[in-house]
Amino acid sequence: MENRLERPTLQSSRVRRWLWHLWREWTIESLRPIAPAFAKPEPLKWSDAKITTAWIGHATVLINFFGIKILTDPVLFPRIGIRLPGFTIGPKRLIAPALEFRELPKIDVVLLSHAHFDHFDLRTLHCFDENTSVITAPETRDLLRWTRLRDITELRWRERKSLKTAAGDLNILAFPVKHWGARKQRDMHRGYNGYLLERNGRRILFAGDTALTNSFAELRQDGSIDLAIMSIGAYNPWIRSHCTPEQAIEMANAAGAQFIMPVHHQTFRLSFEPLREPIERFQAALQDAPERIALREIGETFVLPQ
Ligand SMILES: [Zn+2]
Repeated sequence: MENRLERPTLQSSRVRRWLWHLWREWTIESLRPIAPAFAKPEPLKWSDAKITTAWIGHATVLINFFGIKILTDPVLFPRIGIRLPGFTIGPKRLIAPALEFRELPKIDVVLLSHAHFDHFDLRTLHCFDENTSVITAPETRDLLRWTRLRDITELRWRERKSLKTAAGDLNILAFPVKHWGARKQRDMHRGYNGYLLERNGRRILFAGDTALTNSFAELRQDGSIDLAIMSIGAYNPWIRSHCTPEQAIEMANAAGAQFIMPVHHQTFRLSFEPLREPIERFQAALQDAPERIALREIGETFVLPQ
């Protein structure tokens, strides 16, 4: 999504296009049914002695990291955008989340990469209580003030935190990505992060949203990365803030990741590339090493080999 907007006038083609889009959202889109997820994860059956992950939709991933339950950028309602009494203005999901909030295990940690509406959904964040810890980007804590979340840590780039949870300790490193953090037009002071999670010598990378950048190479210093969760959609025309599927693989490789989980595609229409194009390009780019693809569809589960 672009941050620079022209001064809005009805003469501007951009504004007319936006009004048409809003009209579509209110009429045709509100009648469109949301397709069910491809599969349904069963997190209550997952072993706390393993690393198990499931793609819930968009950038929302459920991780059981040796018993610590982590949820990335939770977005679990039919629409994202600005919440008004009784309805939400903004894009409607194409595919339902693989799990509803009540079907999730008790979440120890919520990871928030940045404050954009498709990652930082207040309606979903209102579902959690004070027993869930939050790791978020700089200057985003204020957005959570009306939620019940109280243990909130903002991490700056290259800052680390050892988080104590009921299930044990989790080491978290925030790292730089190439994106931007403004939720509206003027709040450009907000930060945007990728995260590296470490526990029992195993590492998971959650990239958030990023354009191609060389900052992933420095993550190798921490040791090998087992799984990289990479956003692969919304690059057309937003290539300055979202990478292509090939670039996502390039960055995961630079970090030294073994498995790659492609996310941030198929869930919301945020860009012009065809819906299946990101995953098709991603699979084509890894056709010589398909075993590195953690999963392909919303609702699929991936268990890290031990
Ligand atoms: Zn996004």
